[in-house]
Amino acid sequence: MHELGIANSVLEAVRTEMQRYPGAYPSKVCVRIGEMAAIDQEALRFCFEAITRETELEALELEIEVCPRQHRCLNCGRDFVVHDYLFRCPDCASLETKCISGDELELAYLEVEEHGTSTVGTQSTE
Ligand SMILES: [Zn+2]
Repeated sequence: MHELGIANSVLEAVRTEMQRYPGAYPSKVCVRIGEMAAIDQEALRFCFEAITRETELEALELEIEVCPRQHRCLNCGRDFVVHDYLFRCPDCASLETKCISGDELELAYLEVEEHGTSTVGTQSTE
């Protein structure tokens, strides 16, 4: 299953990131997924829970952020969100556009708990 591989790479990225926070615990991970990446969110959640169960990352929460498909007009340079496969530029009506986002698959952020207090990213607790 496609989503199982993705869940595994997310976990791998979390483990790599956690090496920067010795003694801390990851509480929440957010992944950004483009709508064209063809990922089943429910399947991804299911796989994620299945592979974190009974591990040290069992309590880690998964958040999924979906990015819409965006095109850039090659004529006037405008960026726009594509709805219903309409690739025409809303400003100049040109059909010469190229895809600039919508197939993302990346770690958006990771929330880390340190000594009982919650911190986000590299934010200082002082
Ligand atoms: Zn245009």
